[in-house]
Amino acid sequence: MYTLPDLPYAFDALEPYLDQETMMIHHDKHHQAYLDKLNVALEKYPELHSQPIEQLLKDLQSVPSEIKQAVINHGGGYYNHNLFWQILRPVSRLSKPGQQDNLPEGEVANLITKKWGYGKFKEEFSQLAVGHFGSGWAWLVSDQAGELQIMTTANQDCPLSRGLVPLLTLDVWEHAYYLKYQNRRAEFVENFWPLVNWQKVEELYQEGK
Ligand code: MN
Repeated sequence: MYTLPDLPYAFDALEPYLDQETMMIHHDKHHQAYLDKLNVALEKYPELHSQPIEQLLKDLQSVPSEIKQAVINHGGGYYNHNLFWQILRPVSRLSKPGQQDNLPEGEVANLITKKWGYGKFKEEFSQLAVGHFGSGWAWLVSDQAGELQIMTTANQDCPLSRGLVPLLTLDVWEHAYYLKYQNRRAEFVENFWPLVNWQKVEELYQEGK
């Protein structure tokens, strides 16, 4: 049985960038629904059900065809949201006096600087997130050569299924922003940057090496 992790902060901790009501519905209703459907799909497959969700998404070939799409949709939805909550953090925790920008840390910072420069990276990621047609996610991932890539996936598709290591992600489903931003996805994306937990992104990079 997979379970719903609590948010690592209060529902209102991301205000004013992300509002409390959106966070409550997103976590308690949407994320919970992916989890419930994933558990139902795996009921008849205890040997798969006992594996970490990351393992199933990495090795979809080992998932029977009867439940493969359910694992892609609901397993992806479950994992992607688990990650999304972790790579966000309350603004108040990191802001230092005089520090305006929330900047990458550690080795990830060096890699971003080398490949794009932070400004260009942010611009390219934002453009992909805003321009992604329909529901999906924008990602910063590390590939098998350890190189960073920016990409989007449709629906709940997960980069783990393509042999990539997810480091940073942004949910661009309308349910992630519609209550506060309505159709203004670009404004939502802009307000994502102060919330990024770069310390966690660096941890994920180190773990994925
Ligand atoms: Mn979502």
